Amino acid sequence: MNAIMLESGLFIATLAVLAALFVTIVKMTPFGKRITQTANRKRIEKQLDLTCPIHGLQREEQLVRLPKGEALCPHCYQEAVDGHVD
Ligand SMILES: [Zn+2]
Repeated sequence: MNAIMLESGLFIATLAVLAALFVTIVKMTPFGKRITQTANRKRIEKQLDLTCPIHGLQREEQLVRLPKGEALCPHCYQEAVDGHVD
């Protein structure tokens, strides 16, 4: 019983050390800064893809996929289909 508790305690301590090491690498090293900056760029580019210049930010699941492959704001698509602008 003590051996099992010792092993699980060792396992938890190892996980804690690995988590602390990961956080240290991401927060304090140039490599981690590069990972964070790349993630920031991807987040901003994704937000830009979801933003219509007329109607603003849209939810990704509401966008309309055109036959050519590009996504369009649902309001702009509705206006194009109706043939007028509200
Ligand atoms: Zn739009």
